[in-house]
Amino acid sequence: MTSRYDLLFEELKVNKLPTLPHVLTEILDACLNPSFNFRQISEIISRDSVMAAKVIAVANSPSYLRENHATSVDRALLVIGTERIKTIAITVSIQQFFSEFNTSQTQYLKSFWNNSLTTALFAKAIATLTSYPQPEHAYLIGLLHNIGELVLKNNFPAEFAELQDSGRDISRWLQYESETFGMNQAEVGAWLLGKWGQGDFATAAIKYHRAPVSLVLDAHHLVKIIHLASHLSRDETSGTGNSALDSAEKLFGLTPALVEEIQQRIREEVLSVAQSLQIELAGDTDAEVGQESDERQRILLAKHIRALSLVRSAQQHLEEAMSLQQVHRAIEEVGYLLFGFPAVRILLTDESEGALLFWNQNQLSDQVEDALTAGEESPPVELKVPLKPDRSLLAAAVLQDRILTSSDWQGSVEELPVVDQHFLSMLQTSDMVCVPMHSKDKAVGVMVLGSVKSPELSDSLRRILQLFANAAGNRCKDVLQAAEKIAAEYSHEDLQMRLREIAHEANNPLAIVRNYLEILSAKLTDQGIEQQELVIIREEIDRAGQILMRLRDLRDPEEVATGSLDVNREIRDLVKLFSSSSFVSHGIACELELDEKLQPQIGQRRYLRQVLVNLIKNAVEAMPDGGDLLIRTDHQVNVNGRNFIEIVIKDTGSGIPEGILSNLFEPGKTTKGEGHSGLGLSISRNLVNDMKGSISCRSSRLGTEFELLLPAKPAGDGKESSNQ
Ligand code: ADP
Repeated sequence: MTSRYDLLFEELKVNKLPTLPHVLTEILDACLNPSFNFRQISEIISRDSVMAAKVIAVANSPSYLRENHATSVDRALLVIGTERIKTIAITVSIQQFFSEFNTSQTQYLKSFWNNSLTTALFAKAIATLTSYPQPEHAYLIGLLHNIGELVLKNNFPAEFAELQDSGRDISRWLQYESETFGMNQAEVGAWLLGKWGQGDFATAAIKYHRAPVSLVLDAHHLVKIIHLASHLSRDETSGTGNSALDSAEKLFGLTPALVEEIQQRIREEVLSVAQSLQIELAGDTDAEVGQESDERQRILLAKHIRALSLVRSAQQHLEEAMSLQQVHRAIEEVGYLLFGFPAVRILLTDESEGALLFWNQNQLSDQVEDALTAGEESPPVELKVPLKPDRSLLAAAVLQDRILTSSDWQGSVEELPVVDQHFLSMLQTSDMVCVPMHSKDKAVGVMVLGSVKSPELSDSLRRILQLFANAAGNRCKDVLQAAEKIAAEYSHEDLQMRLREIAHEANNPLAIVRNYLEILSAKLTDQGIEQQELVIIREEIDRAGQILMRLRDLRDPEEVATGSLDVNREIRDLVKLFSSSSFVSHGIACELELDEKLQPQIGQRRYLRQVLVNLIKNAVEAMPDGGDLLIRTDHQVNVNGRNFIEIVIKDTGSGIPEGILSNLFEPGKTTKGEGHSGLGLSISRNLVNDMKGSISCRSSRLGTEFELLLPAKPAGDGKESSNQ
């Protein structure tokens, strides 16, 4: 059941909470490190309530949820994985960068950050001191204890600012919030932590963290810890004296001396974290210097965002590559489009040979790749570069495991060994940059980027290029391994069978989506709402369906192109595809009268399919309120002494308007408006012509009939009849 709070909170935006650019820069920096360090990133996130809240929220969302909720930042990070962490970091940074919050509110965010971290550290210290079994959870709840405040401030900036400026009595702050927003920050925070699966004690701890101490004396251990920790932190960060000493005594019997010792330690720890992140806390420096340094952070953040975006888009592009040949193409595109290098080549390490191998990428065919993966006789390697020191720049980059440019070679390009010179002439550039490639920390080759002028590589560009080269190395290894695995596990026939099964399975959800789309479309029509986007979605789904159909028939592409063509089978296949989607939703009954005497023909299967799909689709669209579709085949029709096979597609739609019928096969004739090009029939006619057949149409108010005539294969002949 939806509770009162849920209704109230449904409106609250919690995904765009801002945090300090200092923190974001630090996280992106860690993400940009070629040897991504989990510990480092976990440490940074653990010190920032907003980032911690984000990863906890993601890790506890339905898509990641495991049996147990993630109750510490480390656990959450392990659940969501490094790639997702990077995505979160970059999304938050971009949001942050373009929001107005950060410029004007950095000061506020600093004190907010300080308060959360201080509370978290106090919570952990008290938890350890008082033998609470889960000090890490206490830390997390301390870190998140005031997240409700940020949510309110972010959702109601004007009202919040007014409240802040009013100089009201801080002790009654929650009451003012309740009056202004209908809820206070403690309630908001408690509700969020509940949503993130942190348990009843954690939500109670947040809800009552500012209640009078007398109310929580007998509460759960965690509630008392957070109560005291947040009180100590308020004392610490607002500089209002030691009002928490009394609570420390009442809640846990802690003496003032002990509390002061903890305070001192935590003060130092917060300061050192702040310094490492270059966060100037209030009172550290004068306002102007602080502002300058904040601005520097913003610029740094922008640079990091740009760098990481570059790397991410390079990775995404590479991930789409499914063969070595495609990886090469992707590397070239990324090298040029993102980094401006006009030519890129890669060499892969062959450990058994102790050399870098180069296959001319322009000639790299699937056969080469097959041979590589199947361990067959070696494909024609164009160059073999021994992995020996001082013999070539290419090998040196791998052996020294660092980026080297042509001018690093004994100070001059002219001195480069012949093998490197050869590469330069192949790249058609005057200089080159060699970046060692790694896959899972192992050297797998070198990426060579051609440069028209002596390249200037800043530290940041070096890091990005290294990440790009590693992504390329990973992808090369992945595609080779995947091909090897498939070759080892499946025979060609097994593979075909498996692919057919997958295509069939994937078609089912597609058909369901298609049906719902039709239902949605009907509803929108009732409400008079435009459906341009739906048309596009529908067409794309159909396209995906057709691609899947191709997967179901993995015969030799040559054979598929001009080989044996079982017309009846094609029709049955297509009707099956349409039946599960359009026919049902349009209320169309489809009847097949297929002449079983029809022998497999010679012809372009792809062409026939495209023509049939177009005709059937048109027939369906001509019967929006249902009707009958008949598809008939005849194995022998003689026209002017020549034998043809006939395919008839007949519908009971409202017919083709006269003005359209007279120029039906001309491009651009359509009655269907947006989303339709009026090209289908003209393309169909061309395809039929290519097949040396003919297409005709007759139409009346009672319906439309298309007749296709295709040259018949003479009985007992493997070729087309001689008079074609
Ligand atoms: P499109 O479907 O994009 O409009 P086509 O070239 O396939 O392009 O069709 C052109 C026009 O011919 C359609 O807009 C429609 O008016 C008419 N048409 C084609 N097939 C039929 C049919 N079976 N029933 C009624 N009209 C049809």
